[in-house]
Amino acid sequence: MYFSTFYIDLRELLINVFKVMQYIKCGAEKFEFEIKPLGGLCKRCQKEIPVVSLTTQNLKLCKSCFNAIQEKRVYETVKKFRMFNKEDRIGIFLSGGKDSASLATLLKRLFPDYSFQGIYLNLGIGYYSEYAEKTVRELCEKIELPLFVYNLPKEEGFSIDEFVFTNFRDKICSVCGVIKRYLFSKMAKALGLTVIATGHHLDDLLSTYLTLFFNGDFLSLKRLSPVNLPLYPGQAKKVKPLCQIPERELFYYAILNELPLEGCACPHGEITPAKKIKFLIEELSKENRTFKYQLMSVFLNKFLPLLKEEIKEETQFKPCLRCGEPTASANELCNHCRRIELLERVKDRRLELTFEEWLKYSQGESKESWVIFDVREKEDYLKGALPEAKWISKDLLENERELIKTFKPFRDKNLLFYCYTGRLSYFFTLKLRKLGFKAYNLKHPEEIFNKVDTLQKNV
Ligand code: SF4
Ligand code: ZN
Repeated sequence: MYFSTFYIDLRELLINVFKVMQYIKCGAEKFEFEIKPLGGLCKRCQKEIPVVSLTTQNLKLCKSCFNAIQEKRVYETVKKFRMFNKEDRIGIFLSGGKDSASLATLLKRLFPDYSFQGIYLNLGIGYYSEYAEKTVRELCEKIELPLFVYNLPKEEGFSIDEFVFTNFRDKICSVCGVIKRYLFSKMAKALGLTVIATGHHLDDLLSTYLTLFFNGDFLSLKRLSPVNLPLYPGQAKKVKPLCQIPERELFYYAILNELPLEGCACPHGEITPAKKIKFLIEELSKENRTFKYQLMSVFLNKFLPLLKEEIKEETQFKPCLRCGEPTASANELCNHCRRIELLERVKDRRLELTFEEWLKYSQGESKESWVIFDVREKEDYLKGALPEAKWISKDLLENERELIKTFKPFRDKNLLFYCYTGRLSYFFTLKLRKLGFKAYNLKHPEEIFNKVDTLQKNV
């Protein structure tokens, strides 16, 4: 039984409310969805009002039929690729985003008797990870999925943000990927998981295939498939049950099913080459609605079998000298441990200071060596600000060229940023650290707004 048993009649809602939902992903990819009647009756049941149109076919569907189609696709994918069975213990890594939220909901609905375990890795990304964790907790409560949370700063003593102090400062996502993969394996072992299910969808897989193809990385291409069997004993099998679903439809699924989604994007998200390719695939799909499925079929049924024939070499694994995990790296240390060693060489990894900490921290340094920036609304800055603080527009975050031009005169200074809550100013801090500036964020700025007079005396 794979059809949805969930059904909410949207008719009443539609009469009164036209809702536009917007979701901005890391790297500024934007999704919009307007909940409104599309005219006529649902093409599938011929009874209900359609509210959503499939992106790959010209089919206008009601919520119930849309859910049923997505559930059928996932069910058939799991069965076709023999992803898991009832004896498996299946881990679902949740990020707070639409893909993993839809994945967990779909799997719980389709396989109610299977053993699923939700996992959230709190990576210590300031003003983001905590928020995403809250969203994941809400989701797990809603769909009754047991959740295990692993807090990277508490357990391992570092956060992803701290890599802005290393030469990976403008490649945070790539470090994050290495750390996450390492922790996925570690969690899988600790929790006794035999399978790890991830929210990679059709667009993810296609853009990765094409990126690897353009780079000539056929070995990685050969290994990428809806099911990745363990490469060494003890490793869990990795599966992608959403590999036949276009990304936009997952967004629709999450919105129509009212799944809790994070409302803010990770500050490190960037437009990677794979994301650029995703835009191109999207453009080509406008000309030919089935383009994505055709391309996927060429890769899975024609190209990958050819590669498997041609590339026979087996990967040699040896234990990492530091953590003992199997590694195929040519070095003695695995990729994860090499990055950690790099981070450990940085003595002072502070990105945030409370006002009192800053006073202590800057003691003994000349007043001129610090420049303070206020990133609140200009009218609030004019009403009262920290002494000698300069006002800057938050729009600078969107314009890297202007940002560099504005801060160029302060290259040799220590920069202190503050806003209303600490979040926006933290994004400035990260951005400027990535550009090589010595930037700090003022933590808990709300505590000082009422004491500007006192501060003026202190500074
Ligand atoms: Fe990690 Fe990058 Fe995703 Fe942020 S956007 S969670 S840094 S991979
Ligand atoms: Zn290691």
